[in-house]
Amino acid sequence: MKTLYKNCTLIDGTGNEPINTSFTVEDGRIIEIGDNLKADKEIDLDGKYIMPGLINSHVHITMEPIGDPFVLIMNESDAKAAIRGVKNLKKQLKSGTTYFRDLGASNGVDIDLRNAVNEGLIEGAEFKCARSVVTMTGGHGWPIGREADGVDETRKAAREQLKKGSDLVKIMATGGVMTTGVEPGSPQLSMEEMKAAVEEAHKAGKKTASHAQGTQGIKNAILAGIDSIEHGLILDEEAVDMMYENNTYLVPTLVAPYVIVEKGVEAGIKKDSYEKAVSIMESHIKSFKMSYEKGVKIAMGTDAGTPFNTHDMAWMELKLMIEYGMKPMDAIVSSTRNSAELLDILDDYGTIEKGKFADFLILDENPLENIETLSKINTVYKKGVKVK
Ligand SMILES: [Zn+2]
Repeated sequence: MKTLYKNCTLIDGTGNEPINTSFTVEDGRIIEIGDNLKADKEIDLDGKYIMPGLINSHVHITMEPIGDPFVLIMNESDAKAAIRGVKNLKKQLKSGTTYFRDLGASNGVDIDLRNAVNEGLIEGAEFKCARSVVTMTGGHGWPIGREADGVDETRKAAREQLKKGSDLVKIMATGGVMTTGVEPGSPQLSMEEMKAAVEEAHKAGKKTASHAQGTQGIKNAILAGIDSIEHGLILDEEAVDMMYENNTYLVPTLVAPYVIVEKGVEAGIKKDSYEKAVSIMESHIKSFKMSYEKGVKIAMGTDAGTPFNTHDMAWMELKLMIEYGMKPMDAIVSSTRNSAELLDILDDYGTIEKGKFADFLILDENPLENIETLSKINTVYKKGVKVK
């Protein structure tokens, strides 16, 4: 059955100015966009705004956003982690994220959740996932990691993730905020170690993402050929130039340290995580601004699952991007088209264009004027089906 959605203001995700138009959907895909269209059923969207579903490039779907999420990960069974994942998948979808990328989970629980969504066993946003992160012994994220030291071992660690069904390989270039005893600024896996893992992913036609916060580690990851720098907390001009020249994506995850600082130790956040987040706040914002001004490609990611960074807060990331100087249209393109490009799904997702899947949001207000309207989305459609 073909459905006509008529008289809406369409923000198509390509960066084009909004237009007043109509479109039809059949078998989950956008069939036509324009005026005077005919269909079996009509939905009048007079006064409403339509945009593509959000694509979150950095999520931990099995992680519970409490003060210390790693404590749960290390003490709970995989079955319990999967149940949390099922709950969070629903939350992501109903808050307007119709596709995402999971960047680290224990024991392959993410793989099973991904497959369960694809098989229609559970309701949720579709997603790509990295499985275990490749990290040095004791390195950042080791509770959800495959520890590896030396070039041969990181190569093998990457091959293992691919063998077990990962869609990409996640590599830890530096320390981080949430792992006790490691500093966000310090390099971890070497350039050579990362390069071996990147080679394996690329040979298999898969992408790579690097948790990279400090300047040297970021540069090491870029030189290793990484596809995206996650966080990028402490960038200098040279690092920004390198990202620009190598077409490396930045996924800034602005909301992650923001909520840690906002909630504080009283809320149950570990003292050292809180102090690390406070110390990098200023340079994080500066790094984001420098990258945006230079024209580095930016994709939206929240790092959902870190403390109080809930699975329905993508709107907050867009709000911060705009607060820190990004044009509202660019924030929307980052969160739709650019994320789709980074995830290698642009042929089918990320914009509202003829032939693509009908993943879209109905909004009561113009998001270009009030981005917070994304925190109260009217309706969410996933492949042409109303899910909220
Ligand atoms: Zn993360």
